[in-house]
Amino acid sequence: MVTAIPSIETYENIKKGKYKISNLENRFKKAPLPNYEILNLNNVKLKKNSWISNEIFNKVNFHLKKKDQVLFFLNRRGFSPSVFCKKCLKSFSCPNCSINLVYHKNKNNLLCHFCGFKAQLNRKCQKELSCDFIFSGPGVERIYEEVKSIFPSKKIEIFSSDTMNKKSFKKKLDKIVNNEVDILIGTQLISKGFHFPSLNCIVVVDVDLTSQGHDLRNAEKNLQLYHQLSGRAGRTGKPSMVYFQTYNTQTKIISDITNKNPKVFLEKEIEIRKINGLPPFQRFISLILTGENEIKLEKEAARFKTVLQSKINGKILGPVSAPLFKLKKKYRIRLLIRGSKTLKLQNSLSTIIQNYKFLSGIKLSVDVDPISFN
Ligand SMILES: [Zn+2]
Ligand SMILES: [Zn+2]
Repeated sequence: MVTAIPSIETYENIKKGKYKISNLENRFKKAPLPNYEILNLNNVKLKKNSWISNEIFNKVNFHLKKKDQVLFFLNRRGFSPSVFCKKCLKSFSCPNCSINLVYHKNKNNLLCHFCGFKAQLNRKCQKELSCDFIFSGPGVERIYEEVKSIFPSKKIEIFSSDTMNKKSFKKKLDKIVNNEVDILIGTQLISKGFHFPSLNCIVVVDVDLTSQGHDLRNAEKNLQLYHQLSGRAGRTGKPSMVYFQTYNTQTKIISDITNKNPKVFLEKEIEIRKINGLPPFQRFISLILTGENEIKLEKEAARFKTVLQSKINGKILGPVSAPLFKLKKKYRIRLLIRGSKTLKLQNSLSTIIQNYKFLSGIKLSVDVDPISFN
């Protein structure tokens, strides 16, 4: 197993001596790690339809003058993650999934990132004539427009799965490596192991750590993401910087995540898991029931829970609507089993499922030690 940052499970296995670890102590040619700066957006006034502070643009300008490549990172594809009408207030949402459609300006359509549903940006208004749209929040295409308006003469490229096919991907990579691109605007796709020799400045447009709620792995996923992202900067030994813009006033979390020694964060996280009886100290098994009939599904989930409760040695949480309640026309309800880490729990669950007859049209998926809690 090879990783920049191990999962909490793997880290615990290393600590217990179950796995043996070999560390790369230095970067290639001993290139120093980038330095960090956190910019609190609560203290600045951004212009309308602007997401990047003047202070950041000044810093970026300084890097561009040194011929450093600059990356603006925002993990949101398209132009705007949500579109609504200012007359009837109706937003565009997917008819198949419980999620907003994302507006893609380059393709001139609205897209569901889960099922691929497409819609056009014109609609009869429930109030009068046609809708008058407001685009709320930025995606990479919108950040591109803002950056282009500040640096009109610079070569700017968007790096996201929407803007590239296999062939143009290779071409774009070559351009970036040969420093024929001044500024990159990228999604998470860009954090994955690329070597861009001139990239020495990264701007994280919005560190969003607010969704900590429903996924216990959010903290470690953020650590992995921002650590990998930072690893794109300063790879040839030049001084490099990562700037984090944020509205989050708990900048302590960001400092922890950006600490050059990730063990500090991992140690804290493992303590939290231990105290709260979370994996890897307990077993989680997620059971998702799906079906097209919402009421039938709710009843079935309750009935299934009753059977589980009488036969399983563990705590059963739920049924609750899954965070993504509707996906590809099917409703999703979740049960979560919390129990000790023994095979007995899995075996008894397996027996129950084999002998249980679900109502027609209802499906069950089982995820032991789930990675995603959607
Ligand atoms: Zn959809
Ligand atoms: Zn309208």
